[in-house]
Amino acid sequence: MKVIVIGAGIIGASIAFRMAEAGAQVTLVEAHRVGSGTSSTSYAWVNACEKLTSRAYFDLNFAGVKAHRRLAGEIEGANWLHRPGVVQWKDAGAEAAGFDEGNFDKLERLKSWGYPADAITAETLARLEPDVDLSTFTETGAIHYPEDGWLDSPVYAGAIVARAQRRHELRLLTGTKVARLLVRNGKAAGVVLNDGTEIEADRVVNSAGRWSNEAVGAAEHELPLAPTVGLIAYTASSDTSLRHALRTPLVNCRPDGAGRILLRANDIDKTLAFDTPATPDNPAAQELLSRMIRLMPSLTGLHVEAVRTAIRPIPKDGLSAIGPHPALDNYYVTVTHSGVTLGAFIGEAVRDELLHGRSVPELAEFRPARFF
Ligand SMILES: Cc1cc2nc3c(=O)[nH]c(=O)nc-3n(C[C@H](O)[C@H](O)[C@H](O)COP(=O)(O)OP(=O)(O)OC[C@H]3O[C@@H](n4cnc5c(N)ncnc54)[C@H](O)[C@@H]3O)c2cc1C
Repeated sequence: MKVIVIGAGIIGASIAFRMAEAGAQVTLVEAHRVGSGTSSTSYAWVNACEKLTSRAYFDLNFAGVKAHRRLAGEIEGANWLHRPGVVQWKDAGAEAAGFDEGNFDKLERLKSWGYPADAITAETLARLEPDVDLSTFTETGAIHYPEDGWLDSPVYAGAIVARAQRRHELRLLTGTKVARLLVRNGKAAGVVLNDGTEIEADRVVNSAGRWSNEAVGAAEHELPLAPTVGLIAYTASSDTSLRHALRTPLVNCRPDGAGRILLRANDIDKTLAFDTPATPDNPAAQELLSRMIRLMPSLTGLHVEAVRTAIRPIPKDGLSAIGPHPALDNYYVTVTHSGVTLGAFIGEAVRDELLHGRSVPELAEFRPARFF
């Protein structure tokens, strides 16, 4: 089977890798560099504990968590999945989803669904993260996810694409944009590149994330999207002892290598415009920094070295849209938030559906067909 995958973000890279490994002839077309889209600007927490809106959505994300662990275990020298654990306290998202203020329902539900999670006391947090000012900590309902962590998405995408190029039939075209789908007899038959070159294939998978609709060329093949903007600030290198990811009411932060700390906050993201300047003096970035210093006063004097903004690819109803496009045969779409968590699983699932003709049950409630 000849397959074209549009976009080499975490999702496109995962699909191209698994399809090529299973024997497909894959052409992966990427407008810029592998892993340079939204996947390069992400908090990248690989988790299902924040996906409790339904059992089906939790199961899909938990499958994502497990697939990453499986893939990292398969490849010798895998260096992209970091799992020191995550600590969370006073989770506004959980309250919005109807859990009690103390998070106790959430903890019980996670445990009953088999997700590793424990209550955590101030004493334990002080041992795990000595720099945290405990006056900012709310012990009631605080949760420690001992097996959670985050992913270096561009490193992951680069490693699996390179592996598939070395070992399997994966052709990578970078710096090359898909202008539109090639449609013949009412079926997707390939893609047309910006320079007019046509590439034919038996199946086309659109993994262009927030740009998915720009690569199709016909309104009836577009998917309704509701993208949101996110801002991440990166501190300068420091002598921090921070090891875990911390999800706190002030700020979410985690190590980002060489003593740098990556910062973001949902409430700040909600105030941003799509053209927010990504500069260290941006007031949103400075607010993230001052919240981090309230959380860990020993970091006073540290500065923001870089800021990035990104647009999250999100289908209109906020849920994943992964599956065949109902209006065009041989055309498969993968647009989703939490793509970092889901990437490795989507790679396996699309392989199983397109190459082996197996319908993957975890995707049943998340088909693009619901929009048409
Ligand atoms: C601030 C922030 C925090 C986040 N935190 C988390 C988190 O904690 N956990 C989590 O799981 N997820 C998180 N996400 C979401 C996650 O990062 C995204 O869902 C994921 O990166 C999307 O991956 P993708 O492969 O679909 O898209 P992308 O990474 O954007 O890849 C799409 C690729 O397609 C290419 N492309 C576009 N148009 C074309 C074209 N016409 N032709 C060829 N190539 C094209 C682009 O160059 C790009 O490389 C966060 C996102 C943001 C912004």
